[in-house]
Amino acid sequence: MAKKRLILGLALCFLVLLGALAGRLWYVSFYGLDKLSRYIFFCLGLTFFLFVLVALLGVAGVVLVILCHRPIPVFDAPINILITKLLPLSMYAGRLFRVAKQKLERSFIEINNTLVRARKIKVPPERLLILAPHCLQYSGCGLKVTADVNNCRSCGQCQIKDLLLLARELNVQLAVVTGGTLARKKVLELKPQAIVAVACERDLSSGLQDVYPLPAFGILNERPHGPCVDTKVSLERLRAAVLSFIEPEAETAGVN
Ligand code: SF4
Repeated sequence: MAKKRLILGLALCFLVLLGALAGRLWYVSFYGLDKLSRYIFFCLGLTFFLFVLVALLGVAGVVLVILCHRPIPVFDAPINILITKLLPLSMYAGRLFRVAKQKLERSFIEINNTLVRARKIKVPPERLLILAPHCLQYSGCGLKVTADVNNCRSCGQCQIKDLLLLARELNVQLAVVTGGTLARKKVLELKPQAIVAVACERDLSSGLQDVYPLPAFGILNERPHGPCVDTKVSLERLRAAVLSFIEPEAETAGVN
């Protein structure tokens, strides 16, 4: 919960600042400058005020969903605005307050995952996509698994083999991508109904915002050799995340 509070707290600070700005603009529109600028300032103030109002509803919605562990449809639109507009802005604001970027990104991923879990979405296995980063592949392997993951010869030198086995066992789709551009391309191409994405904090937080409201569960990779080289992922967490999306009857069929 502490992780989630960080970015929600920052979002609230940001909203207070925006609200103060809206009030100031209105003040100027009524008491300062001439008539022409009055309408401009009034409209600007109104825009900020509406944004603040909707985003506040979004924050309230996220808190309620976290507390109730279930989706609350009336908050869907404000939460959407919060996730896609306010939280990215709050991340920039966080840097001004010298909050570590990675902490903010982790906080955002936590919130996203909680919202996704609360929606309890089930999809057919073939409509679920595992998006894995290229850095999971052994750095000494020259096979083009980003072009087609089936190019992997399953030598066992890296976890691409395990991901391939998992995808085949559960009949879900698997793509290995080099970054956000290829990830977006794969999502457009494969049209999944749900995604389990593995990546570092930066790629996950931007990717999850990109595909929202498509349900995407984020799993952070492990970097025993430093960033972007020979990374790893917890196969238990990955399997659990995939199974949580799969319809019970399809899940059983896939395992057998
Ligand atoms: S498991 Fe596949 S991707 Fe990994 S090193 Fe072996 S052949 Fe290459």
